[in-house]
Amino acid sequence: MTQEELFKKLIAHCKEYGFVFQSSEIYDGLSAVYDYGQNGVELKNNIRRYWWEAMTRLNENIVGIDAAIFMHPQTWVASGHVGAFNDPLIDNKDSKKRYRADVLIEDWMAKLEEKINKEVDKAAKRFGESFDEGMYRQTNPRVLEYQNKINEVNSRMVQALDANDLAEVKKIIEDCEIACPISGTRNWTDVRQFNLMFDTKMGSVSDDASTIYLRPETAQGIFVNYLNVQKTGRMKLPFGIAQVGKAFRNEIVARQFIFRMREFEQMEMQFFVRPGEEMKWYEYWMEKRMRWHKALGLGDQKYRFHKHEKLAHYANAASDIEFQFPFGFKEVEGIHSRTDFDLSNHQKHSGKKLQYFDPENNESYVPYVVETSIGLDRTFLLILSSAYNEEKITKEDGTVDERVVLKIPPALAPVKLAVLPLVKKDGLPEKARKIMDELKFDFACQYEEKDTIGKRYRRHDAIGTPFCITIDHQSLEDDTVTIRYRDTMEQERVPASRLREIMEEKVSMRKLLMNI
Ligand code: ATP
Repeated sequence: MTQEELFKKLIAHCKEYGFVFQSSEIYDGLSAVYDYGQNGVELKNNIRRYWWEAMTRLNENIVGIDAAIFMHPQTWVASGHVGAFNDPLIDNKDSKKRYRADVLIEDWMAKLEEKINKEVDKAAKRFGESFDEGMYRQTNPRVLEYQNKINEVNSRMVQALDANDLAEVKKIIEDCEIACPISGTRNWTDVRQFNLMFDTKMGSVSDDASTIYLRPETAQGIFVNYLNVQKTGRMKLPFGIAQVGKAFRNEIVARQFIFRMREFEQMEMQFFVRPGEEMKWYEYWMEKRMRWHKALGLGDQKYRFHKHEKLAHYANAASDIEFQFPFGFKEVEGIHSRTDFDLSNHQKHSGKKLQYFDPENNESYVPYVVETSIGLDRTFLLILSSAYNEEKITKEDGTVDERVVLKIPPALAPVKLAVLPLVKKDGLPEKARKIMDELKFDFACQYEEKDTIGKRYRRHDAIGTPFCITIDHQSLEDDTVTIRYRDTMEQERVPASRLREIMEEKVSMRKLLMNI
């Protein structure tokens, strides 16, 4: 199965088993907006809890807040989002498709890069052992021609974007003879700046003064509350503020399911430090966040860091944690050293002092900030894409069966245990209900008595339930039950009275948190 096929199957599975639905599906959906179903919401809540507890409970100097989505419009002027949170877009008049102009140019350069690589591969085959790739790249006329073209177009594009010269961006697209991949024509509109923020009106008077934005990141809710938390919590530097919440971006090209959405959820932590100490804390949080990811046990080799060469307007260092999704290594979390950019700008725009008085050296200053910012939906996709498995099983009679199993880390699974009477008679349902009634206060349990036991196991494999508890006739005699393990399909008979203690050990978040 190719990775593309796997991804398609995963999307279908998410819908079939109540994890993710397209928003407003009965109206044919809303592009890049999704709803979480009965199992999805549980998984999402558990991921959120894993992050929240790792951040706030395990770090004595990090506290949480929950700021509103709507914020004073000046917030977004101060943060730079009104002026700079733009993508240049262009439409093809024939296909009516919309593109990011810079991405069209970058794709064109990537094609030339591919041509260079093909030339190099051909030459390497031709010359064998004696091939000197560096020399070839520097001297081969065709390679040089391609490379010069790339360099020239790249520097024109960077200059045009820096100068906000959109006519020049269009000219580059024309000069490179870039055609629309759908219609094949070069019938382009002008390039326009497109702000990624959604706006709406607040109050009953519709004039410009009442335009407000849906926040494009949760971070600003933390910055504007920095002093409230520092003072009321008597926090000493270094300290952090964590928040989980919705963010909204009017992404021009939205694809790859819940990887790039227009409404999504972020889990962000802003760590306030002494100026000059930010690099130490940046390294610290890179390492600590990577440990949080790897503690999930999905495979260390699936993660890597990607260091940003081109930095955002607010950062002096930035790295992404990338994960190997079915469509390649992609960003799931960003760790950014944001300097004092945000707090200083809020200070300037609000006229309120946002300084910290450092009792150790009797100085007041605006703290520097190191941010960790992870997408909850992307983490959800990351977990499901590595949990999804199709397996062939040889049954007792020798026939081969197939199962789809979600090997979700037990602490995060939507349902922790299924309580299943073997048959729907002889007092087994009553016994099972009694066990369920004891366990439901501690674990997310599901009771099921319909269909054969095999079918019920399959249904729970498909939603990632790590343990099925089966109650049979022997249970009535000696008060034992069997635990059936999702990943190995092995069964173990244990006293019903020990179930709570056994399950606690296997599914508790504690174990996960201790692994970080
Ligand atoms: P990308 O380059 O993929 O657009 P970004 O660099 O703009 O992401 P940040 O602004 O650093 O992203 O946001 C932090 C995190 O928020 C990202 O690592 C990602 O997990 C999540 N995120 C950002 N945009 C989206 C989106 N449109 N849909 C889902 N998650 C998102």
